[in-house]
Amino acid sequence: MSERKQFRAIKGTRDILPPDSALWNWFEHSAREVFESYNFGEIRTPIFEETSLFARSIGANTDVVSKEMYTFEKKLEILRGAFLQSSSGVTDAASLRKYLQYLAVFVDNLQRGITVGEVSNAPENVEVFSILTAIVVESVARHDNGQSEPDDRWNEQLRRSRILVEQVDIGGGESLRPEATASVCRAYIEHNMQALPGNQKLYYIGPMFRRERPQKGRYRQFYQIGAEVLGQSDAPAIDAEVLEMLLVFFNRVGLTRTTLYVNSIGDKNCRPQYVELLREELRKVKDKLKEDSQRRIETNPLRVLDSKIPEEQSIIETLPRISDHLCDECRAHFAKLKEELNLRRIDYKENWRLVRGLDYYTRTTFEVTAEGLGSQNAVCGGGRYDGLVELLGGPPTKGIGFAIGTDRSILSIEEGGNAPKLSGLAVYIAWMGLASYPTAVNIARKLRAAGLSVELPPEEMKFKKSLGLADKLGARYAVIIGEDEVASRTFTLKRLADGDQKKLAEGELLEYLESERRR
Ligand code: ATP
Ligand code: MG
Repeated sequence: MSERKQFRAIKGTRDILPPDSALWNWFEHSAREVFESYNFGEIRTPIFEETSLFARSIGANTDVVSKEMYTFEKKLEILRGAFLQSSSGVTDAASLRKYLQYLAVFVDNLQRGITVGEVSNAPENVEVFSILTAIVVESVARHDNGQSEPDDRWNEQLRRSRILVEQVDIGGGESLRPEATASVCRAYIEHNMQALPGNQKLYYIGPMFRRERPQKGRYRQFYQIGAEVLGQSDAPAIDAEVLEMLLVFFNRVGLTRTTLYVNSIGDKNCRPQYVELLREELRKVKDKLKEDSQRRIETNPLRVLDSKIPEEQSIIETLPRISDHLCDECRAHFAKLKEELNLRRIDYKENWRLVRGLDYYTRTTFEVTAEGLGSQNAVCGGGRYDGLVELLGGPPTKGIGFAIGTDRSILSIEEGGNAPKLSGLAVYIAWMGLASYPTAVNIARKLRAAGLSVELPPEEMKFKKSLGLADKLGARYAVIIGEDEVASRTFTLKRLADGDQKKLAEGELLEYLESERRR
């Protein structure tokens, strides 16, 4: 049976088609405008990085890294595994030949890796490569000379090749980015951006990847718009300005049914003590908690505060609160932040349970929720990450940022009925009779040059059918060009909403439609 397979987008991914894509473009364009008015510049980073970058920054124990990342093992790593396996049970001529094949394939790929720059060309690697090559050459020659049963020399070569193959520094695997803050910090360090004047204010727009269970508002490829401020200062005014910018943007795009929650989760001076205290208190009520929370008592007690399980809520309410355990500096920072927010007339709610799922956060954390989204209602998350750049091998640096989930934001805007009517097709050119075609081509080009969206049917159509299509395409105007019009050099302009018609000369037509220019 040669039934043709019907391809579909992979689960958790989706296509964004017109006219939705226009809404997405408008949303992203608005972000650019607002962020640039706060003097942020765009950074574009690769969508994949070394796996260890994410493990180190986000935290190896977080769900994002331990369960949700799309990770690629290097092909050479897979070949190494295959070789090591094949070389472990060499007892006869057949297994010997197999071992030799795997070794040759590994060495071949090692050479290719070094040549194309996928594997480090450090002297150690190059040396191992040349010894392995010599072993392959000798072994193949022995094999071809009929020496195909394991003997002492074979065993010796086998032992050495195993040791050498294990020594090759292949480098770690690579992963699709689950978020972009780690990449931005990596770039900041790599390009020595601390040497640039002032704070670095960067924004990014693009897809992120997490292997989560797909559901409404949760996808495996989703889109974020984020902003980061990196530099020497951790002034609460920076936090407040970042939040102001975020809310100005949300307001601009009609994402108004939102709530901003803020919290401070302390820093390395006070949080460890709080976490210990929380752990002790949690151990006392362990029996009343569900399995996930029980496990988190030992691995990451702060995450218990995140729990949405109804039965756990009354217990969590009795737990010690971080706000009562902040050190003086963190307490002062948080108080000043709230002052700054008031100065900017920003409404917020304090939420002591807002801890966020990534390891790098310190002090200020925040989240914005929106209506119309069900349980996946967070449209933005963010906070400070003062130690992160240093943790990644850079200079001591303060940082704060946020990431907006575009998919959910657009859902919420649509559900709230706030999606703007984006100008689509302005003019449909209904031409009739081959003699009018050159005029139609000409006028279409002029209208397009004037910035209008114009549809020109590529083939002659009956008048009624042509205007019917204009309607279905949602054009606002039809320009009717028949032989009469060509002869008199005037055009009939029909407003499709109400059928209103007027006759205009070419110059008048262009002028009249000027107001319809594409936004
Ligand atoms: P949640 O608790 O909703 O899973 P999160 O804490 O994992 O969110 P962040 O890593 O802070 O989310 O990302 C910021 C924003 O990105 C979220 O508020 C959300 O709007 C969006 N987001 C995160 N994961 C997804 C996803 N799988 N699909 C769609 N949007 C997402
Ligand atoms: Mg999540």
